[in-house]
Amino acid sequence: MMVDTSTSPIVDVHCHPFVNQGELTPNQFADLVSFPGGSLEFMAEGGVDVNDDLIDELQGVRRDVVYFRYLLHQLANFFDCEPHLELIVKERNKAIQNYAGYVKNLYADCNLTTLIADFGYPNDPSVDKAQFTKDMPVEVIPIYRIEPLIAELLEADIGWDEFRLRYDDALARALEHEGYRGLKSIIAYRTGLDISPLSRSPDQGLKALDAIRRGTGDQATKKLRDHLLCRALELCMEHNLPMQIHTGLGDFEVNLVLCRPALLMDLLRFPTFRACRVLLVHSGYPYHTEAGYLANVLPRVYCDVSEGIPFAAHAARRIYAETLEMAPLSKVVYGSDGFALPEINYIGAKLGKTALAQALEDLVNDGMLSQDEAQDAAGLILAGNARRLYGLD
Ligand SMILES: [Zn+2]
Repeated sequence: MMVDTSTSPIVDVHCHPFVNQGELTPNQFADLVSFPGGSLEFMAEGGVDVNDDLIDELQGVRRDVVYFRYLLHQLANFFDCEPHLELIVKERNKAIQNYAGYVKNLYADCNLTTLIADFGYPNDPSVDKAQFTKDMPVEVIPIYRIEPLIAELLEADIGWDEFRLRYDDALARALEHEGYRGLKSIIAYRTGLDISPLSRSPDQGLKALDAIRRGTGDQATKKLRDHLLCRALELCMEHNLPMQIHTGLGDFEVNLVLCRPALLMDLLRFPTFRACRVLLVHSGYPYHTEAGYLANVLPRVYCDVSEGIPFAAHAARRIYAETLEMAPLSKVVYGSDGFALPEINYIGAKLGKTALAQALEDLVNDGMLSQDEAQDAAGLILAGNARRLYGLD
């Protein structure tokens, strides 16, 4: 007997919308399907000449990552061709002539049934909520990211009373009337996760915005962002919906020192916020054991294993195993962080299933779980836990 995840449905708890990119060259495909960062623009901003040598160098960076090789092998199986990028892209360009049918076949092949999508990235008006929902052959559940709203309000010439009113109104509208099923914050990309729960005081918002407007510094932007995150948690509690907080790895802009889940301890154990359901996005990888610990000691904290799966490739089995050292089986949730192309969600699902079966089998072999418990846990982690957390049934 083995843990069998092959037929389990999958809810992808954290990903982003995308549009049909049309036919692609091998380089374009590699750029879009790889982990974000390291683009030509990125190097050009650093004063590096953009020429064929640089293009080759960056393609090497993308194609020599284990994740990318795994992706080629999986897609070669899907298309029934040799695992060479050029052949796969050729097959793909044929397949996307019927884009809807192609995405449908991909997602049927891994039984991906639901995408819980953060529409705050990409920040691109062409990626429309209604259009993406219509394009996808599976259920789409939208999540609202608070940072674009904060940026918009900071640009507006308004005082604190107006700022606060517009912030609350926009979030309440998103949750009550626009179909969003929760909020998301990437404050780890901005000012970090070391957030005092006392930031919830409205006076902190007032003082911080005033200091920003007058340019007097004193960590004003951090204080404002900390306050607004506290307010978002309160709104999630009022609407009985979960909050996603980015922890751990991200693109080159992330504050990799101040993204550790452990930094959230003060905030999330504070009595005011204990009722909030909080999903630690990426399970804080590479600090995923900290996320697992928080999910153990704080009853409403959850771990989402996205982005480490699939981009950290063979770490997938270890991410599950180490997150589950402390996190309850009912609080670990599968996700991919797919974006840009439908293949990332597909590869995440493939790897997410295989690695989970391996991690759970290890627990059966070690006498930690029975076969039945492991099989049940697989269903929960791949779909059941997310469906319960987001009230999807
Ligand atoms: Zn993401």
